[in-house]
Amino acid sequence: MAIVNAKEMLLKATSEKYAVGAFNCTNLIQMGAVVEAAVELKAPLIVQASVAPSQFLTPQVIGAIYKTLAKAAPIPICLHLDHCSDVEFCKVCADSGYTNIMIDASKQEFSENIRQTKAVVDYCHGIGTISVEGELGTVSGVEDQVRVAEDEAQLCDPEQALAFVDQTGIDIFAPAIGTAHGVYKTKDPKLDFDRLEEIAALINGQQLRVPLVIHGGTGLKPDVAKRLVSLGGSKYNVSTDLKHTLIDTTYSYISDHREEYNPGKVDAAVKEDIKDRIKYWIELLGSAGKA
Ligand SMILES: [Zn+2]
Repeated sequence: MAIVNAKEMLLKATSEKYAVGAFNCTNLIQMGAVVEAAVELKAPLIVQASVAPSQFLTPQVIGAIYKTLAKAAPIPICLHLDHCSDVEFCKVCADSGYTNIMIDASKQEFSENIRQTKAVVDYCHGIGTISVEGELGTVSGVEDQVRVAEDEAQLCDPEQALAFVDQTGIDIFAPAIGTAHGVYKTKDPKLDFDRLEEIAALINGQQLRVPLVIHGGTGLKPDVAKRLVSLGGSKYNVSTDLKHTLIDTTYSYISDHREEYNPGKVDAAVKEDIKDRIKYWIELLGSAGKA
């Protein structure tokens, strides 16, 4: 039985200076591939679904697939709802078997962000061991329905971060430090490493209590990813890479096998390529062998 919430998994990762890969999935093929790759590398795992696939497949179906895969896997696996700005939908997913919920009220005023985030924390902690991720500051780019223009993105203020964590009671925290969703428009995105270090010291300097999350992980260079992990990032989100792999592999397989009508072969090709990408990230983040 490997159903867990994210907090304990990430406390261990933070103290041992590695990060758990958190991979966004939109269907069963991706979820199966992600789990198989993590099992083969004995890595703890966070499977994520953002709001659109959660609505499309329904939270109940995603929850059931997750439970079936996780129960059979000899590694800890968490199911995370990514970037949900709707408090009520957060509750529906918590009721449907998601073990970690991200309420993203980061576009709201500070006090309203606290109010909505705390509402989800109170609900999730009230019904069991479901952990909650909150965000402060905004990550630019597009993730599902959440759109933030680059010039609108606001980095997380460290003092506010401490107040946010204390007043909401969140379990894991996503500070905006300059990473972006989607494909980076510049070759060298400006990340504020000092800010992450300061936030980590303020929140976890005395005692490790709230693991930190890195969003927009796909486009970062390996040395940048490692530096973010060394500064306290213990949940590392990868979404765009898996979307591109799914579409590119499907397109190239069908282009190369135009006379073939065997969907299982397309699925198998996608699964193999997704597994390769997951293994790349797991090795890079240092979580192989940590399950
Ligand atoms: Zn994100």
